[in-house]
Amino acid sequence: MKIDFANLQRQYQIRKIEIDSAIQEVLNQSDYIMGKEVFDLEKNLCEFVGSPYTISCSSGTDALLMSLMALGIGNGDEVITTPFTFVSTVEVILRLGAKPVFVDLDPFTYNLCHLDLETKVTKKTKGIIPVSLFGQPCNMEEILILANRYNLFVLEDAAQSLGAEYKQKKSGNLSEIACTSFFPAKPLGCFGDGGAIFTSDIKLADKLRSIRVHGQGERYHYKQLGIGGRLDTIQAAVLNIKLKYFDQDILKRRVIAQQYDLSLKNKVVIPLVSEDVKSTYAQYVIQVENREELVLALNQLGIPTAVHYPIPLHLQDSLKCLNYKVGDFPVCEALCHKVLSIPMNPCLTDDEVNYISESICNLTT
Ligand SMILES: *Cc1c(COP(=O)(O)O)cnc(C)c1O
Repeated sequence: MKIDFANLQRQYQIRKIEIDSAIQEVLNQSDYIMGKEVFDLEKNLCEFVGSPYTISCSSGTDALLMSLMALGIGNGDEVITTPFTFVSTVEVILRLGAKPVFVDLDPFTYNLCHLDLETKVTKKTKGIIPVSLFGQPCNMEEILILANRYNLFVLEDAAQSLGAEYKQKKSGNLSEIACTSFFPAKPLGCFGDGGAIFTSDIKLADKLRSIRVHGQGERYHYKQLGIGGRLDTIQAAVLNIKLKYFDQDILKRRVIAQQYDLSLKNKVVIPLVSEDVKSTYAQYVIQVENREELVLALNQLGIPTAVHYPIPLHLQDSLKCLNYKVGDFPVCEALCHKVLSIPMNPCLTDDEVNYISESICNLTT
């Protein structure tokens, strides 16, 4: 059997007719920049997430960058986040001249450990970026209480968790501002780069809409520095179609995760999802001891895998300026040697899921 990790082709084929015609409609109008579909998408996302304002944009990375710009983050500021995330979360902090400050992880959820947060707060701390890793939101209640006490912003990085829930509330609507990504392999992916920002603050929303077009107020009048951060109309058209089926897709992911859980729980460490959370399983991540061998063996059986993430951010060359060293975040460092993401997407068949589970079981006895 030959398994596809993300099944982007299958995901397209099952909605091909609708998606093709939505793209054709944009071509017919030739309204490529900020066309009607972009505003439709923002409205649809507000409804989906329950957030009062949605600002679509060019990528998840730009969503984070624009959010920090709107929050006024710059030189001398500190922002607390996790070393176990995609590099963007941290890159944008440094890009603005501010300093990322890491906390170690909760060993069960792999999210930042809220118990350690307070020890990282200094006079320079401006905010916290909790990352809802692999589709599971952090302990937001505790994080918000702490943020309130020290007057910090909370910006959820929901790039992997659109559609997830924490205490019956949707990811993206758990803090005053949150960001997501529509990178093709994310749970809700478009056919290129894309992202969105959710906020409940009308002032932030206005500022973000201006930052998205180079800080423009009136045409050719620039109030502040911004970026070219718009989402293409064609991508919005694709997302409007895919969003209609997104709840179904997430349910499918949860069913597959349950099947994996059942077959793998006695063989490897399976993902642990908190009781008050519903995950999107952006990745289904197991922990194994013999990762290198297992990866090779699975590959020979036609089963692709990935490692999210092999090197913690505090040990990356590009972040050397922060002066972290091996041993600073032991939970994170240990995880990086053991985590393995196995195929997870709504188009996997039962046969494929069984084949993957059985292969892993056979190879880990
Ligand atoms: C994918 C991802 C991003 C960046 O999104 P892009 O759209 O690829 O720029 C940021 N944070 C996390 C946690 C991600 O997984």
